Amino acid sequence: MTTAAANPGWVGARRLLRQLRDIMAGQGSAQEQLDLIVTLIARELVAEVCSIYLRRSGDVLELFATEGLRADAVHNTRLMVGEGLVGFVAAQAMPVALADAQKHDLFAYRPETGEERYSSLMGVPILRGGRVHGVVVIQNQTAREYADEEVETLETTAMVLAEMVAGGLIAEIGDARYDSEEAALPQRLEGTALSPGLAKGIAVIHQQRVTIDRMLSDDGPREEARVRVALEALHIQLDAALDRPDLSASGEHREVLEAFRMFAEDRGWVRRINEAINQGLSAEAAVQRVQEETRVRMAQASSGLLRERLLDFEELTNRLLRQLMGGDEDVGLQLPEHTVLVARSLGPAELLNYEAGALSAVLLEEGSANAHATIVARALDVPLIGRVSGLLSRVDTGDEVLVDAANGVVYLRPGDELTANFDVALEAQGAKQEAYRSLRDVPTETKEGKRVSLLLNAGLLADMNHLDNTGAEGVGLYRTEIPFMMRATYPDVEAQTTFYARVLDEAGDKPVVFRTLDIGGDKALPYLQSGAEENPAMGWRATRIALDRPVMLRHQLRALIYASGRRKLSVMFPMVAQVAELDALRKLLDLELERATGLGQDIPDTVRVGVMMEVPALAMQMENLLPRIDFLSVGSNDLVQFLFASDRGNPRLEGRYDTLAPAVLNFLKHVCDECRAAGTQLTVCGEMAGDPVAAMALLGLGYERLSMTAASIGPVKAMVRSLPLDELAPYQSRLLHSSASSIRRYLQGFARDHGVEV
Ligand code: PEP
Ligand code: MG
Repeated sequence: MTTAAANPGWVGARRLLRQLRDIMAGQGSAQEQLDLIVTLIARELVAEVCSIYLRRSGDVLELFATEGLRADAVHNTRLMVGEGLVGFVAAQAMPVALADAQKHDLFAYRPETGEERYSSLMGVPILRGGRVHGVVVIQNQTAREYADEEVETLETTAMVLAEMVAGGLIAEIGDARYDSEEAALPQRLEGTALSPGLAKGIAVIHQQRVTIDRMLSDDGPREEARVRVALEALHIQLDAALDRPDLSASGEHREVLEAFRMFAEDRGWVRRINEAINQGLSAEAAVQRVQEETRVRMAQASSGLLRERLLDFEELTNRLLRQLMGGDEDVGLQLPEHTVLVARSLGPAELLNYEAGALSAVLLEEGSANAHATIVARALDVPLIGRVSGLLSRVDTGDEVLVDAANGVVYLRPGDELTANFDVALEAQGAKQEAYRSLRDVPTETKEGKRVSLLLNAGLLADMNHLDNTGAEGVGLYRTEIPFMMRATYPDVEAQTTFYARVLDEAGDKPVVFRTLDIGGDKALPYLQSGAEENPAMGWRATRIALDRPVMLRHQLRALIYASGRRKLSVMFPMVAQVAELDALRKLLDLELERATGLGQDIPDTVRVGVMMEVPALAMQMENLLPRIDFLSVGSNDLVQFLFASDRGNPRLEGRYDTLAPAVLNFLKHVCDECRAAGTQLTVCGEMAGDPVAAMALLGLGYERLSMTAASIGPVKAMVRSLPLDELAPYQSRLLHSSASSIRRYLQGFARDHGVEV
């Protein structure tokens, strides 16, 4: 490794930081300190100008101090984030270094500053917790090419400034009226609802947990040794966590920790930390500096998967920081009651580490439907809104927040009137949930006493708790790809066996339908490269992969057989398009059963085989299909997208085709009639089953088994118990001949007129 002495850039950086520390430790007001700091930076980096812009409410960057520009521009010059080169640095959260800045398209001339005399410009963001708090700029008259090391030195300085800002610098010297007028205004932000529900609470910004009190150090070797010790402690901690008996009850957590251990041994990471120490930072500050750089890279990574892996990395960094700052409590991080957790992004273990009871909702600037944290939030029944742009620059810890995760809307600092309206909605939600809970043990039957089976869709071990608290009859769809997606590496037969056995143990007497891997398309696995596809939903996915790469499916089936022992096993194959495919899949299952028998293993006393009805072509083969299977389950999410040739994930098509279109219902009627005639068990397990109006339509068609997420069971049960099915069926059957694009409106009318709770 390069030593500090061998690198003159580091020596300069260290000298600058040492003087910076003296200024910060000295007397004088915050404004006086800032004025000294700009003078210092200009001198040490040999620039004619150094200016500090800080971010205020309303995305405004205000000039707080300058050496070289006109003094009366301070606190008067303001730019919007995104405006000019300074605004560009803030918007991108990236440094800019230009020898001829005035020629740049984005250069915004401010006459009051007198800056037209300067040719070159280097600006770096003041970053803290993934949030841009301002920009530090230096300028030179000559067309100066700034060296990478100089950019790094200014970035390190900016980091120290970020700590000053976090310490309340703006409040101390800024014009308070300016912020308070803006800040007092309620704001409405929009995002994507990823886990449903309504919540009210107080914002807590996730990254603020770790506050560094010592940024600088002259003793590089000591700081490097501290990092070494902390890393060792972290390794021990991760190993201990992996061995903890209570954690081993939660498979997802374990896999996340295993991925961490891999990252914790990343040499590049440690090297970058040591380089930052050699610039004069303390161990904590160096770790944080590398974390900020990683965040910027993360924001630019186009692959969702890479971004998710980097989230894990970020969480690991926080653990290391807490380790350096004296111990790290591993679970049950304390939060005030009714916390709305706000973060740029969040790892799944980070979410699991908070006490679930205190979390009212989660808001993320990033986040996606398949991200691990989203899956965990849904399992914990915590509302989550993701992709809330500008979230972190608008919300502060302590702000009141209303979260409407039914519609993807966030209200910051709402007024009394809005809060009062929201309280009414919250109360209604609470009363409804209470009413649903009271339905847990009552039978699911229509007004005339016809029984309906409600089952659970699951994918996490945490989902299994819902079997008990919802009173669901069993798991109608276990999406096995979800545990696969949460791992960095392929789980071998042993790991899968342990996992499936745990699912079965948790289910007790209740049946579980395991769907074999439905990967490909948007559900990518980090360790299975399938290459980009033009049309992934119709591409190489699910059983198509399984038939081309039978080893993976055979391993999965083997694990399911081992996990079941003598218990009953239900296996369901997704995306089957042809009876011949089912025959080939079934052959693999028979081979595995024979293999287990040959090895003297226990095999399940009953093996039930089912397929999903997702590809419309399968409905044209019922005559050959039904005698071969024990059950059929309608995956309406995929089925409807294929029936209408309408991508289920494309926002431009959202709302265009309804699941309650006569075309869909007539199709589903055909499937239902055929199954009834053949005596084949039939379930619906797509989202449609959890929508009370659509579920009512399914019952009207003759369906008797519906599988859905835990949160839908209460509302659907309430619908079933208030439904006069004998009146609905004839009414609906006439509607099936309608030329309307959807009969939803008519069914809602029926529900209203007959007191059906939908
Ligand atoms: C479906 O397609 O309806 C289904 C249940 O499967 P998934 O949503 O996992 O594709
Ligand atoms: Mg599907």
